[in-house]
Amino acid sequence: MSETRLREQLVMFGESLYARGYAHGSSGNLSVRLADGLLVTPTNSCLGRLDPARIAKLDKAGNHLSGDKPSKEGFLHLAMYEERERARAIVHLHCTHCVAVSCLRHADPANVLPPLTAYYVMRIGRLPLVPYFRPGDRALAEAVREKARKHQAVLLANHGPVVAGKSLEDAVYNAEEMEETAKLHLLLTGRDTRALDAAQVADLEAHFPS
Ligand code: ZN
Repeated sequence: MSETRLREQLVMFGESLYARGYAHGSSGNLSVRLADGLLVTPTNSCLGRLDPARIAKLDKAGNHLSGDKPSKEGFLHLAMYEERERARAIVHLHCTHCVAVSCLRHADPANVLPPLTAYYVMRIGRLPLVPYFRPGDRALAEAVREKARKHQAVLLANHGPVVAGKSLEDAVYNAEEMEETAKLHLLLTGRDTRALDAAQVADLEAHFPS
């Protein structure tokens, strides 16, 4: 896909996520991988009103080449791309239900959402929690990098999700599936819930390898 088309897609998916309440204010950032670097949404930009010409372009090392200054969270995207060779796009949101789950105390931080539906298992699988770090702390990138080796989605404690995909569309769908599952999980809290069992999860993993 051409860089021009990828810029248009960032604008289109940004608008869509914002319009449906997955992003608010200037929160959230999107990126796509290019042959020679990446495109990242600019710092302090609203996902609902991106300008394709002003989207930041970085080289593979993260140096700013053109466009507005990249999101301060661009380093999270870089860390994940470096660990996941097949990732073509990354979505980071502060979406309400995922952030709510990220603020809970978790008995098993290696997997913080139950396998409620087949689609969640197929798109996300296991979701590890990355410990809290102050915004901009580079140690956060290292913590994300460690989890990203085995997971295409991670949840940052008291912050939100970082989700990769095979395309921008795929990454957006993965993020949406995660947010909807977080919402279901919260809706079901206190109810006698039957999540998929280990055999059902294994059967999905065998039929739909990621
Ligand atoms: Zn963030």
